[in-house]
Order: sequence, then C-alpha cells, then structure tokens
Amino acid sequence: MIIFKSINKLKNQVNFKANVGFVPTMGSLHKGHVSLIKTSKRRCYKTLVSIFVNPAQFNKKTDFKKYPRNIINDLKILKKLGVDYVLIPSIKDIYKNKKQMKIKLKENDKILCSKYRPGHFEGVLAVISIFLKNIKAKFMFLGDKDFQQVYLIRKYLSNKFKTKIISCKTIRFNNSFAYSSRNKLLTKKNIKKGILISNILKKYRKQIIKHFNKAKEIEMITNKISRICSRVDYLEIRNKNNLKKNINKKNFKIFIAYYLNDVRLIDNF
Ligand code: AMP
Repeated sequence: MIIFKSINKLKNQVNFKANVGFVPTMGSLHKGHVSLIKTSKRRCYKTLVSIFVNPAQFNKKTDFKKYPRNIINDLKILKKLGVDYVLIPSIKDIYKNKKQMKIKLKENDKILCSKYRPGHFEGVLAVISIFLKNIKAKFMFLGDKDFQQVYLIRKYLSNKFKTKIISCKTIRFNNSFAYSSRNKLLTKKNIKKGILISNILKKYRKQIIKHFNKAKEIEMITNKISRICSRVDYLEIRNKNNLKKNINKKNFKIFIAYYLNDVRLIDNF
C-alpha cells in the first residue's frame, strides 16, 4: 500500500491507464466505506482511497473541529483490505490554487441538505473537482447514504470528467441504523433513538408502497420523529430520479436530516 501526502506526487506516480477505482472519504472508516472499497476492488485493477476532512464542506467551524478522525485505525483497515493507494493530503495541498473554479448551485437545487447547510455542496463539488482533475480514475464509488451528494456530483461534474460514477447501496446495522462516521459522536441513548427513527421510516416506506395515500401522513410522521430527536431539519418524500416532488409508488424516496443532541444525521429510505 503506497501512501501519498501530496496529490501532485500521486498524479505523477500512479498509472491511470490501468483500471483505477477511486473511493473518496473523510476517514473514520466503517462498514459503509469498506463496502465501497470492496466494490472497487472487485471491479478495478487498482483501488485508491482518499482520506480528507474537507473544511470547505462544513458550514460550521465547530462541526469541522469535532468531526471524528482516526488515521491510524483507518490505515490498518485499508491495509487489511489490500488497498493499493491512499491519499492523505493537507488542506494546503488541496486548496493551493486559489483560482479554483467555484461551482454555484442552481436555485432549484437548494433543497434538502443544500437548503439547511448553505455552502455544503459547493464545498463538496469543489473538492471532488480538484480530485478528478488530478485523479484520472476510471470509476469513482459513492454511497447512496448521501443520495443528494451523488445526485449533485452527477449533475454538475459528470460532463466535465471521464471518471464514471458508481453509486452503492447504504450499509446498515441489522437494526436498520445506517453506518456513519458521526455515529462515533453519539451516546448509547442517542444510538437507540437513531435506531428507532430508522425503523419508523423503514415501516413508513413499506406502508406507502402498500397504500400510496399514506404518503400524505408525512406531517404526522415528522411530529412523531420530532418527539424522539432534538430537531428535524427536514423529512420529505421526493422523486429519486430528479429530487422533485412528483412522486409515485415506484420512484419515491424518503429523505431525512435530524439532530441527536448536536450531531446531525442524514438518511434515506
Ligand atoms: P464520508 O467519509 O462520510 O464522506 O463518506 C465517504 C463515502 O462513503 C461517501 O460516498 C458516502 O456516501 C459513503 N458512505 C457513508 N456511509 C455509508 C453507508 N452507511 N453505506 C454506504 N456508503 C456510505
């Protein structure tokens, strides 16, 4: 496993003519990340994982500061998985070129997380475009857990780069709660609340499939969940293909962002 601390060095030393799969992460790795890496290893000749807690995508400094980091354990996991290349760049290394093209979101994309976390996706799109300018991978693997992120990366970046985007299913504990690096910030009591919320939404999805009219009960479900957690940013049902509100039984997805104390979690069902 070769570890690069500079994107320039990586660019010059990795042979991108070979089929390279790229998995961008913010570290504090868990089974969700592992599943993306395993998919890349199955499909590609070489696998490259980046670990970079991107300050540009945090709309609150305190959130950036307290984001869980565990580089030593991450490297152990990556080595065990047989990852070929790891990129751990510094903030300076990524943002050395101040003239980086800034991508502005269209007004109709300011929904769900981009409504509640202004500047977040602009930061995500900035770092992914810097990566893809330098990392000429054949595939980039992203998780459906961050559904809007995959949607916006496809929409704003897929025509600018040759790298093909592959989205992978959300990995959950047996109790339906999704793996997330932020889970490490939760107390046991709050994990229980998260499990409860996941199960309410899983059941709600099944009910909607059975009786589509149940989709109208979203307000009631929002109230129920609001009583469990500290705050619900949004609970919305949208069309998974365009994130618009024109839904039917086959294309709908339930999106949620909520807080357990000051830890913000997102999921979709
Ligand atoms: P992060 O380190 O949180 O930025 O996530 C890096 C990648 O892992 C993103 O593409 C996420 O969507 C994906 N990911 C995070 N959690 C999960 C999960 N539970 N299942 C599958 N993919 C995930």
